[in-house]
Amino acid sequence: MIQNHIASRNVVHPGKTGADLLHDPLLNKGTAFTDEERRRFGLVGLLPPKVSTLKEQSTRVMANVRKRAADLEKYVDMLSLLDRNETLFYRVVIDHIDELMPIIYTPVVGAACQLYAHLYRRSRGLFITKREKGRIREILRGWPQKDVQVIVVTDGQRILGLGDLGASGMAIPVGKLSLYTACGGISPAATLPVTLDVGTNNPALLADPLYLGTPERRIEGREYDELVDEFVSAVQEVFPKALLQFEDFANHNAFRLLERYRDRVCCFNDDIQGTAAVTLAGLYSAGRITKRRLVDEKILFHGAGEAAIGIGDLVVGAMMAEGLTKQEAMSRCWFMDSKALVDAGRKDLQDHKKPYAHAHSHGPVTDLLSAVKALKPTALIGVSGQAAQFTSEIVAEMARLNARPLVFALSNPTSNAECTAEQAYGWSAGRAIFASGSPFSPVIFRGRTFVPGQGNNAYIFPGVGLGVVASAAERVTDEMFFEAARALAKLVTEEDLAQGALFPPLTKVREISACIAEAVARVAYERGLAGEPRPKDIRRRIEALQYQPEYKEYI
Ligand code: NAD
Repeated sequence: MIQNHIASRNVVHPGKTGADLLHDPLLNKGTAFTDEERRRFGLVGLLPPKVSTLKEQSTRVMANVRKRAADLEKYVDMLSLLDRNETLFYRVVIDHIDELMPIIYTPVVGAACQLYAHLYRRSRGLFITKREKGRIREILRGWPQKDVQVIVVTDGQRILGLGDLGASGMAIPVGKLSLYTACGGISPAATLPVTLDVGTNNPALLADPLYLGTPERRIEGREYDELVDEFVSAVQEVFPKALLQFEDFANHNAFRLLERYRDRVCCFNDDIQGTAAVTLAGLYSAGRITKRRLVDEKILFHGAGEAAIGIGDLVVGAMMAEGLTKQEAMSRCWFMDSKALVDAGRKDLQDHKKPYAHAHSHGPVTDLLSAVKALKPTALIGVSGQAAQFTSEIVAEMARLNARPLVFALSNPTSNAECTAEQAYGWSAGRAIFASGSPFSPVIFRGRTFVPGQGNNAYIFPGVGLGVVASAAERVTDEMFFEAARALAKLVTEEDLAQGALFPPLTKVREISACIAEAVARVAYERGLAGEPRPKDIRRRIEALQYQPEYKEYI
């Protein structure tokens, strides 16, 4: 039986030939096969004679990656490595997480999705189309690994800020799951990327002869819902312990699917709930600088989609935990969409916005500066995907209204940020507390160094996944995200805050994930949602579960 991903030192592979080992990325060690293994498995002559260590292999990989001029070339190098040798891939990524996360995930993965069919080399993950209707269970049973713990599924309709990329969106579940492993420690053999290829409405893809998805317009309505339903039921039957994460669905489906499944399946939507948790952590950290409590904030969101409403809902829960009624908490969250302020006068609102359509006496408010002047928020959160929306007047107005205004420019990629870190500090005379969705370099303003915090979802979802897996939780609840946010905020040091950083360094992400996993598992045990008995030491159990990319000896 193949067991290389579990923590045994010696792993037996009856019947495996050298070629099997070399061609299975979960088992391959490349030039690190020892002389003994080479003799035992018939690998003598098939590899250059020098036996490398994992460290030497890692040095070689990084030297080559760094020589590449274009980020997309670095991505292709890394993906080829993942296809050849997963242990080495994860060693390299974990040891260089700061440098490689933007390559294997956002922003470079966006370009990789756009060019997916043209860059294509080898399949990864499962593609499910409408032709598989009635047979999805069989397709899942055909997946070679049987102990699947985390599934990331997309239908490719809203890939990052890039819109409908159809089946080319597969690079997203692949990339995201590589972060579950690198940042959280979920075993790579236990991850399953899935694309529901329901067609695409992207004319460029439909016209591209190399496009690899179904070259038809998207199925919608009942046909779509039945396919998703069959997929979700099949997951529950074939991989009953797996956590299902919805990723990059367009917002009309994202909210609906989350509502439909959250109380009956172990699932969550990272665009909605993961974003919310990392942003709530940023608000908690900011409160340590401003000395304001969360309930003292009045938040104006620019955008009213998955990220915005997700954050709003979690903030409301967190404010209620601090003593506000639901009504009071909701009245502290205001939203602007592409048309105007979301308010009681609007007759055109989608369902997810309606609970926040508050009444007010300011007349129609159609631009952000007027909204800031009318509502006097303490925090401005940009999640509209629209660049340069936080102008100098708006940031200056926030600074006029507040000694320490919170300015979170969360839209990705960097080119879509509502304002840059430099602008936020400059326009507020250094008083803004800034966070962004994409990374910004430190800024020196009037002799002081500011380190802008990046509200990266990768702080949250790997730990949530690990906590759910460790406790075999049956559901993923808002309380888990709420506790995840608190756990993350607690890891921010006074030194981080002194530089304006609202999040701990990403280099500590495995430790951060273990803390978050512990908080999440604790909720599962306390709420009777755990499928496993509570261990004496939750943290030790979690750390023991974390996959370490190390070679095992094959005997
Ligand atoms: P979405 O499509 O669900 O929502 C976008 C919202 O913005 C919609 O409500 C839309 O009406 C509104 N909008 C569009 N143009 C506008 C304008 N000119 N003025 C005001 N509102 C406008 O998308 P989403 O998933 O909510 O993501 C939005 C942005 O947030 C993206 O750029 C995404 O990259 C970013 N995001 C960041 C993080 C993070 O920092 N961790 C996480 C998730 C999403």
